[in-house]
Amino acid sequence: MTGKRPSFTGDLLLKGILLENISITDIDTSPCIADPDRIKYMAKITRDLSDVFPTLFLSLPNSRLTKNPLTLGFSTQQHNIIMGEKGDLAVTYVKDRDEVNYINEKIIELINKAIKYNLSHKTKLDSIIEKKRKLTPMTLYELFPKTNCKECGEESCFNYVAKIISGEMSHDKCPCVDPNVIKKIIAPIELSWSIDLG
Ligand code: SF4
Repeated sequence: MTGKRPSFTGDLLLKGILLENISITDIDTSPCIADPDRIKYMAKITRDLSDVFPTLFLSLPNSRLTKNPLTLGFSTQQHNIIMGEKGDLAVTYVKDRDEVNYINEKIIELINKAIKYNLSHKTKLDSIIEKKRKLTPMTLYELFPKTNCKECGEESCFNYVAKIISGEMSHDKCPCVDPNVIKKIIAPIELSWSIDLG
């Protein structure tokens, strides 16, 4: 037999394990509060997401995981993205329909990376989840020199740390602290994912 063997991703797609699409339920064309030229949309992911939320929470630097109801939220490039465990998805600060499609593709990519991660890692995540849940600016602040030299572009080390936690600034702007140390604290799981909307 000479047929080409399907890839790992192809195998998972064939078995229906990976997510293939997201159906858009509502595009709300009323303006976003932050920018009247932007819109928001709601969509449905046809999959229960409770198994991927812990992995996503630990891979996204500024994510929030709530218990009742179980939701995962995060911000990227001014978009607020919220997912419910039953697959509800809401995204704000969107330019147009093309961007809706683009963001949906990126979310599918992200969820599929988390599914693949879960298939190949059986480690319990509970203790690192609790650690991340308790993360406050003060936890990170302890790692910084507190010289307020402004090289990161912020007035003080505390301002910079607060903006890392809120997702407004990346974690690698201070020359005095190893960004890998910060990364391990704010996003201990590496899924190599980002929404780069330029
Ligand atoms: S560059 Fe580092 S040391 Fe300087 S203010 Fe920013 S966080 Fe503080």
